[in-house]
Amino acid sequence: MLESLNDNSYLEPPKYSRDYVYRCDICDEEIFEGDSYYEIDSLIYCPDCMEMHFKLTAVSTDIEGYLSDLEHEDITE
Ligand SMILES: [Zn+2]
Repeated sequence: MLESLNDNSYLEPPKYSRDYVYRCDICDEEIFEGDSYYEIDSLIYCPDCMEMHFKLTAVSTDIEGYLSDLEHEDITE
C-alpha cells in the first residue's frame, strides 16, 4: 500500500535546495533528514529498494531448507 506522501514528488520538478543526507546505494534516491532508510553491511537502502530486494512473501514450504539457505548466504566469504 502506497502512502500519498510521496505522490507529489514526481508531479513537480525536483528541487535541489534541500540537502540530502544519504543517497540510496541501489537507485540513487536521495534520503533527506528525517526520512527512513536502511543500512545493511554499510550499504544504504531507500525504503523502495528495501522492499524490492528484501521483502518476501511467506509461503508455507520447507522451513528448514529455507533456513539452511540463509546460513549459506552468511558464509559467502
Ligand atoms: Zn533505492
